[in-house]
Amino acid sequence: MTDSRKVCMVALGSFLLLALFSATAAFATGDETAPARDPKQAVDEAYTAKIQKYTTAPYFTSPLVNYLPASKTVPTPEVVLGDVAGAPGVLPYTEDVYKYMRLLEKASPRVKVFSIGTTEEGREMIAVAISSPENLKNLEENRARLAKLADPRTIKLDDAEADKLVSQAVPIYYITGTIHSPETGAPTALMELAYRLAVDESPYIKEIRDGMITLITPVVEVDGRDRMVDIYKWHLAHPKDFYPPLIYWGKYVAHDNNRDAMGVTLKLTENVLKTYVGWKAQVLHDLHESVPYLYDNTVGDGPYNAWVDPILTDEWQMIGARNVADMTKFGMPGVFTHGDFDTWSPGYLMFIAAMHNGISRLYETFGNGGADTQERTLDPEEYARTWYRQNPPLAKALWSQRDNNNYEQTGLLISLHYFNENKRLFLKNFYLKAKRSVTKPGAEGPAAYVLPADDPRPGLQSELLHVLQKQAVEISRAKSAFTVSLPVKKESKSKKKEEAKEKDAAPAPTAREFPTGSYIIRMDQPYSRIADALLDHQYWSPDDPQKTPYDDTGWTFGELFGVQVSRVTDLKVLDAAMERVTEIRAPGGVKGDGAVFVINNTAEPALATLRYKMKDASVEAAEEPFESGGKKFNRGSFVIRNANRADLDRAAADLGLQAVALGAAPSVKTHPVRAARVAFVHTWLSTQTEGWWRLALDDMKIPYEYISTQTVAKIDDLNAKYDVILFPPVGFFSGSTAIINGMPMAWGNPLPWKNTPETPNLVGKNDSTDDMRPGLGWDGLAKLQAFVQKGGVLLTATDTSRFATETGLTTGVSTSSSQKMKIVGSVLGARLVDGASPIAYGYDEKLSVYCDNGPIFSLTNIAGARGRRRLGPESHTRPTGRGSVNDPDFTVGRPGVDAPEEPSWESWEAAPVTDEQRRNGYRVIPPANRPRVIFRYADNKELLISGLVEGGDEIAQHPAVVDVPSGNGHVVLFSINPVYRGETRGTYSLVLNTILNFDSLNAGRKLAEK
Ligand SMILES: [Zn+2]
Repeated sequence: MTDSRKVCMVALGSFLLLALFSATAAFATGDETAPARDPKQAVDEAYTAKIQKYTTAPYFTSPLVNYLPASKTVPTPEVVLGDVAGAPGVLPYTEDVYKYMRLLEKASPRVKVFSIGTTEEGREMIAVAISSPENLKNLEENRARLAKLADPRTIKLDDAEADKLVSQAVPIYYITGTIHSPETGAPTALMELAYRLAVDESPYIKEIRDGMITLITPVVEVDGRDRMVDIYKWHLAHPKDFYPPLIYWGKYVAHDNNRDAMGVTLKLTENVLKTYVGWKAQVLHDLHESVPYLYDNTVGDGPYNAWVDPILTDEWQMIGARNVADMTKFGMPGVFTHGDFDTWSPGYLMFIAAMHNGISRLYETFGNGGADTQERTLDPEEYARTWYRQNPPLAKALWSQRDNNNYEQTGLLISLHYFNENKRLFLKNFYLKAKRSVTKPGAEGPAAYVLPADDPRPGLQSELLHVLQKQAVEISRAKSAFTVSLPVKKESKSKKKEEAKEKDAAPAPTAREFPTGSYIIRMDQPYSRIADALLDHQYWSPDDPQKTPYDDTGWTFGELFGVQVSRVTDLKVLDAAMERVTEIRAPGGVKGDGAVFVINNTAEPALATLRYKMKDASVEAAEEPFESGGKKFNRGSFVIRNANRADLDRAAADLGLQAVALGAAPSVKTHPVRAARVAFVHTWLSTQTEGWWRLALDDMKIPYEYISTQTVAKIDDLNAKYDVILFPPVGFFSGSTAIINGMPMAWGNPLPWKNTPETPNLVGKNDSTDDMRPGLGWDGLAKLQAFVQKGGVLLTATDTSRFATETGLTTGVSTSSSQKMKIVGSVLGARLVDGASPIAYGYDEKLSVYCDNGPIFSLTNIAGARGRRRLGPESHTRPTGRGSVNDPDFTVGRPGVDAPEEPSWESWEAAPVTDEQRRNGYRVIPPANRPRVIFRYADNKELLISGLVEGGDEIAQHPAVVDVPSGNGHVVLFSINPVYRGETRGTYSLVLNTILNFDSLNAGRKLAEK
């Protein structure tokens, strides 16, 4: 700390007094309590002095947090931190944060700590409730009141009764911190906030404490927090070195842990969701740090999610505007609430509230990724004064973790106070939103979603229903068959004209019958909104003024799970005989007599789980469809021998698979389905996107060895250890040269990722290295190539597919980027090209896939050439000359010669080899070595299923899944991402089929003649 800094601090002291005075004056109007400390309560002078010392400029604090009230009985965060909250160099582990919260609980009747579950690595998550002792004593009675408001059916939608409850209930405001591990400030801010709420006797704080319950989960990503603290400690011990980037946050995913609120696959999402819904909270406010200095991105920008209640979007405006106004009056720069975050996707953690009739909120404050105080220089767009940011952040400023804690706490206290001042309004809104969710069928509809009992994929169907159950959605089951009328489709004007001409067109069906046992998701329930948002279709207009969607634009769960979901608007569906169900299981087990068992293949991931579970059984796959005992079986159906019937029955029942016992094996060509030895390769560049693949495989109990690109380079004979190498998408920094070269080695220091006394939490159950910098290397690339040549199967997706094609691991496929195409996390249509390939086993002609701008594959039969990207029929027009389109040109002065017919081919195919190319055709790829297209993207007009598709003709019809023979092995390329955020379970079997049929991928292959 320099001398000039001390001078600055002296000046700061008097400024604070002034600021306090003027701010108080500014608020002392009307009935509202002004933010001011209680002059009768002593201040903790030493703590307050340190707050001031660590605050780097007088305007980076507020009268709400520039002092700490003293208490004789309640310890301050200093007892655990050894310094004040936000002090430089201090970053507590989760354990210390919890220790402090439990000390508070012990010392104050105003604090209660609740355990809310554990993480993937077994660490505890907590929620801390702070309120008056009386409120905390009456938690259960209060919960009962809130539960009635949350489910208006319990009071028969009686508004008068609701008003009574609103006047009595104590609302709950739930704050969550540090879901993003490198965003480090929230835990100390929330420790100090908890202290203030428990101790401060100023009227402003007292009103919050007495009027409502503040619920705090100080650390959401607990596993990642402890890793981040490790890294920071390493940095403090090696101050001159570069420190390793935080490559793992939680066990599985990094930044995407805040994109899981749809699929609810991570423990942290499940635990926060259960807490939010279980407590019947009104607000969920999530804390982040990536924007200077406080962006309350709740209001953000359009388009807003189409399924939220407009009452909520008004609430966003109310709280956001007040938040900005009050902090502006405190003289704090850089506080704003509009910005470039669109509110379309419901995948963010805070959106749990938006989808469950509450209020979602999110702060981006500014952070240094640790507790160092640093000079920070902003980009011009960050400090620009805009219409929504009249008081922008400074272009350059010294910034501390304390500054961050000041902003976070000030914003939260203003929010809590404003919420409390208006709690009757917000509680009434909470009831109204729930009521409007219950009355949805008759208001805007639909009446229900129906998942028919005869869906060929009951396992995936039950998985989709389990997601809805995690979302607290009620599910019913039809006790008998029922019929509903279908809505009449509105035709476009041009279509109407066409149809007027075809007078005899067959009338569209107007009714549909659903069988007994069909699942019904009634929309007259309090949480209809989330079910609707997940099951409905999304449309993002290419003309939308928002040109940079913040996240995915489409997610329709029925499509991505590969199961049938009917949106029913006919209110009669609600009168069908049905019962609520809580236990949902796909039926499974063995039926019939005999020693051979067959299981139909409908691309259910459970088949692969069964294969690994029944390790010693002999399992084969049928290469053609067959009939047996009056039942039809698809290609890829399992034929199982040498299995103990009781074992198989139990396993099949567990997995929801229906096996049929036969006296003899069906007479159909089969090949073995082996439990392949799988390696799962990751880089040290990013593990964000592959994490979803690990989670899925673990969930399905598919064993694999998790190795890095560095390890690949060190294994001499990959084939001796593995049959299949999965190389899922890298995500960030994923260029082919980056995968090979890794991080810069020519300068800097090694970046270790391993457990040491300083960093005991880094590795967890993942991987370690002495130095993260080296990549796959050229040697590693050669090893991968040898693996494939010798018969191994390499599976790649999106960016690693690009890597495989660019580095010569494949022949005959080129990848290109789009020119104008914009497909931002959308659901697209795909079409089966080669149903005989084992990769396609169990799939139908049509498949819905997740695509995020490709890459675009093109095929060629000429080695080394680039496949021509095709943009539809314009390449087939005749040259300029006499005549018409079909009546061709001639040459003056000589008889006409008929030109040979130009070959035609489809966009997913390679151009046929010409006679000219065959002259000394050493580059012509022999038919057996050519890429085999399994799925292609649909035609342009059928491409969009959900989300945004602009310029889709660039990728329409192009290959989506390609099997490229290479030596004795295969490289299987995906343009889609088949395993993503727990949402794309319908395409998991494309990967699992590749694994299970690794040594028979050529089955059913038809070769071109030449
Ligand atoms: Zn964040």
